[in-house]
Amino acid sequence: MENIGITTTVPVEIIFAAGYKPIDLNNVFITSKSSSLYIENAEKSGFPRTTCSWIKGIYSACMKLQIKKVIAVIQGDCSNTHALSEILQTNGIEIIPFAYPYDKDEKTLNHEILKLIDNLGTTWEAVMDVKKNLDINVRRKLNLIDSYTWKDNLVHGEENHYYLVNSSDFNGNYIKFEDKIDDFIKEIKKRDKILKKIRIGYIGVPSVFTDLYEYIESLGGHIVFNEIQRQFSMPYNTSNMIEQYLLYTYPYSIFVRIEDIREAINSRKIDGIINYVQTFCFRHMEDIILRKRLNIPLLTIEGDKPGNLDARTKIRLETFMEMLKQNKH
Ligand code: SF4
Repeated sequence: MENIGITTTVPVEIIFAAGYKPIDLNNVFITSKSSSLYIENAEKSGFPRTTCSWIKGIYSACMKLQIKKVIAVIQGDCSNTHALSEILQTNGIEIIPFAYPYDKDEKTLNHEILKLIDNLGTTWEAVMDVKKNLDINVRRKLNLIDSYTWKDNLVHGEENHYYLVNSSDFNGNYIKFEDKIDDFIKEIKKRDKILKKIRIGYIGVPSVFTDLYEYIESLGGHIVFNEIQRQFSMPYNTSNMIEQYLLYTYPYSIFVRIEDIREAINSRKIDGIINYVQTFCFRHMEDIILRKRLNIPLLTIEGDKPGNLDARTKIRLETFMEMLKQNKH
């Protein structure tokens, strides 16, 4: 199976149907023991210091794995992806562009999906077969893990993050990934409930901090919502492929995301929100809107390079958790 690199979630059903192995380059970067080296290598290749770490990590991951084709989301993810895909192209990598329409126009998205099907040389029927399989055997079970997290308090926030974030590429093999989920679900059922009192929602792109979840738990918090990671898992229960990718909130406006976050705050009885922002990311500005529109205590933390939490962020988290505890009393 030939690898195809992806820079964010794309209609992965098409990649599998065409017989390729999807590789989410973000995951390759962040799960590497030498992720700092990825940043260093990108900077040595000329990436400015003021480029976000994820972009530098994706670049180095692509080079390290000698990926030949990359599907680059040129609308609906990150404006830096434009320049990144052009740099990759100059290194001989084939770039397949994919665009989510900002206005959520069904026809435009349909057109983009058909274009990708055509480009990868598969058929609508084959794609729908994969979709059915993924929906029944994998996405449904990921949704179950999510509900074991917030309804039953049996799954830790970090475990929830791990399974949901990996649904962008299903670790390249959704059959093996399903086996892993099945084993995990069997184990969950034997567990005792997590007795943390403060229910936290995590919003924003996945963090580069390696000990964030652990630290929040040590302060008495239970992360019951991983916003973007949950979106990657697409828990929408629709047999319509176009509708599925229209319900996916991440590529569209911040207001669509806010509706989803509000719903989670109510249904999951969230006490406070941690909004993670990446240094040098344009999404940092959206914090202004989130603060105006979300009527709940919200702490914004910023991460730059992969590694442990810095002392200042730890103190801010401690103060925030203390305030939430006081509010609860
Ligand atoms: S964190 Fe922001 S700047 Fe970095 S890749 Fe993601 S969207 Fe782009």
